[in-house]
Amino acid sequence: MQCQTVLPGTECSFWTKQGCVFEGSKCQNVVEDCDGCERVVDSEIGKVCSVYPSPSFKWAHGLCNFATHKKLEIKTEEQRVNPLKASKRAAG
Ligand code: SF4
Repeated sequence: MQCQTVLPGTECSFWTKQGCVFEGSKCQNVVEDCDGCERVVDSEIGKVCSVYPSPSFKWAHGLCNFATHKKLEIKTEEQRVNPLKASKRAAG
């Protein structure tokens, strides 16, 4: 259903007939780590995330997986080689 408070008219899975069912009954503002992310939007309560209601939770355990401005370092092929297979290959 569409949000009618923080981001009026925006489809949101947390908005129900009873209103917002997210913790605190509304989205939370973005955190410092969100600076530069394309998903930050202005709302009735200031800057919020357009895809997740609790930005601080998204950053609590490391990098936010929805972030557009920061990405995990992708390991190179060399780093991904299984040491066991590599030793067998070298022995064979
Ligand atoms: S996607 Fe992640 S980094 Fe971007 S605004 Fe939302 S919580 Fe912040």
